[in-house]
Amino acid sequence: MQKRIYNFSAGPAVLPEDVLKEAQENLFALPSVGMSILEISHRSKTFDKIIDEAKADLRKLLDINDNYDILFLQGGASLQFSMVPLNLMPPKNKADYILTGSWSKKAQKEAKRVGIVNVAASTESESFNRIPKQSELNLDPDAAYVHYTSNNTIYGTEWHYEPETGNVPLVCDASSDILSKKINVNKFGLIYAGAQKNMGPSGVTMIIIRKDLLARSSDSLHTMLNYKIHSENGSMYNTPSTFGIYIIGLVAKWLIKNGGLDTMYKTNKEKADVLYKCIDESKDFYKGHALPDSRSLMNITFRLATEDLEKKLISEATAAGFDGLKGHRSVGGLRASIYNAFPKKGVEDLVLFMKDFQSKNS
Ligand SMILES: *Cc1c(COP(=O)(O)O)cnc(C)c1O
Repeated sequence: MQKRIYNFSAGPAVLPEDVLKEAQENLFALPSVGMSILEISHRSKTFDKIIDEAKADLRKLLDINDNYDILFLQGGASLQFSMVPLNLMPPKNKADYILTGSWSKKAQKEAKRVGIVNVAASTESESFNRIPKQSELNLDPDAAYVHYTSNNTIYGTEWHYEPETGNVPLVCDASSDILSKKINVNKFGLIYAGAQKNMGPSGVTMIIIRKDLLARSSDSLHTMLNYKIHSENGSMYNTPSTFGIYIIGLVAKWLIKNGGLDTMYKTNKEKADVLYKCIDESKDFYKGHALPDSRSLMNITFRLATEDLEKKLISEATAAGFDGLKGHRSVGGLRASIYNAFPKKGVEDLVLFMKDFQSKNS
């Protein structure tokens, strides 16, 4: 088998080795089926079992009760930027958006095409280096919903609380921290997450939607943009991402086998602490972007004194087997994405590399 290197990519991102091995082993023919997951009909008994088990395991992991439906759609998290307002904004035609980074701004942009957007809070003037406090949220009690991004993949900040929105449904883009910890799903109207950060391959987006909100989806919507239609058809109005859903199912089983989300959170916290400690103890050689109380456990963003030094680090790190450390093109610097499947040893090895780099370059 090929040697694997450390993959710090923000997404598509590292997957559990056990999952990759199982998928590889069964790719030629699923046990007792005699056909590959890439070849079977989405209307087959085999696939019914795969999608049902994936949903059941996700329900187990996140404690999702029967008031909620789970959908697997396509078009990425980006299509949800449109589907959320198209389905949930009418008839009030106004919603609150909390801006904490590039993705929430993109969500807001699409929502504005549908109705009135009230920016309930924004940390843009502070380079999105923190998450607003509850007391800073200027919420409209009459809004159709409140939208926020729980983890800001590009800036490296993460909400460490869920905003209180009273009776207004809370909508969350959880693309880059879904399944990294337990959340109380009952506090949400809708959660969406592209799979390719922490759950599976690209090409499939999970939506957890409170069933009463399905009544908001108007019959006048285009069929493929209508949550109610997707729900009534069990995410199979059209051909879903069969392979993507299969991998999500394997990842869910891997999480359950490894102790569930509380265990995962503990490991994620340990991994992030190792890296933030290195940054904090570097006497400003490495400068973290996020303020300490807003730091993401998934995406750790930092800068060096000059862009040349950043380039040097990235090229030496790549040569040493640490891939994907370049920050997002919109903010520069460095970013280490250390999702669930990223091994703790990889973070420890990166820290050794960073300390060595510092001693040679300061
Ligand atoms: C990656 C990402 C997106 C965009 O996902 P696509 O699947 O490429 O549309 C949206 N929101 C967040 C928080 C992300 O990390």
